[in-house]
Amino acid sequence: MGLFDKKYCDICGEKIGLFGNRKLEDGNLCKDCAAKLSPWFSERRSSTIAEIKEQLAYREANKEKVAAFEPVTTLGYGTKVMVDEGKGLFLITSASNWREANPDVLALTDVTGCRVEVKESSDEIRTKDAEGKSISYDPPRYKAKYDFYVNVDVNHPWFSEMSFRVNPSTVVVDPIVQSLPAAFGGPSNRPGARVTKADPTTNARYVEYRKAAEDIKDALLKARDDVREAALPKGPVICPHCGATTVPDASGRCEYCGSPVV
Ligand SMILES: [Zn+2]
Ligand SMILES: [Zn+2]
Repeated sequence: MGLFDKKYCDICGEKIGLFGNRKLEDGNLCKDCAAKLSPWFSERRSSTIAEIKEQLAYREANKEKVAAFEPVTTLGYGTKVMVDEGKGLFLITSASNWREANPDVLALTDVTGCRVEVKESSDEIRTKDAEGKSISYDPPRYKAKYDFYVNVDVNHPWFSEMSFRVNPSTVVVDPIVQSLPAAFGGPSNRPGARVTKADPTTNARYVEYRKAAEDIKDALLKARDDVREAALPKGPVICPHCGATTVPDASGRCEYCGSPVV
């Protein structure tokens, strides 16, 4: 099989161009069909043609949910979480024209958990020597970089997590470079200056995005809990497990024996 063998998409039948092939477990997918898959889906390589066809049918049906979706609450910066409290639905999208992007519409009750994750990395800050050549400081200096993620765990046939970055651009925090007294090496640009990592919680953008991530998590979980609570029967019910007349608690369980009654 040569590099330039012609391949055809097993979904739409179109010829696949050079570098346009997306491998499946038992076939090939063109990039136009691949673009229609859920952005949260990551198991394309281990999926069969039949599974991909099934997902594309689900994605097509999702368009109707998008058309009927009425966002009441919108949270976030570049990537937005939209909640339709009236229908008990939500979606997450980074598309400016989100209705056209066909974002997956989920039930709030499909949310099983939500976590905020702060990812930290570092980049070296370099300087130049007398000849203009890039060199390390002595000791080396690093700026810390922070990104804030919200990871939403969901019950869904095609993916189990919706993870997105909250901050539109990485928060960079420069180290603190302390001047040493002349007797110990002099000003901060001299070798041997004391370099320490700055406390990121003193950085306004760090604080803002970290709080935004926590706010998104709290709002999503609260919207989920509100839907669950509204679905509970208002009056007392007879518990099928212990026979007691009970007003179910917030998670729909018998107040006497703890069994689910809803
Ligand atoms: Zn195709
Ligand atoms: Zn009971």
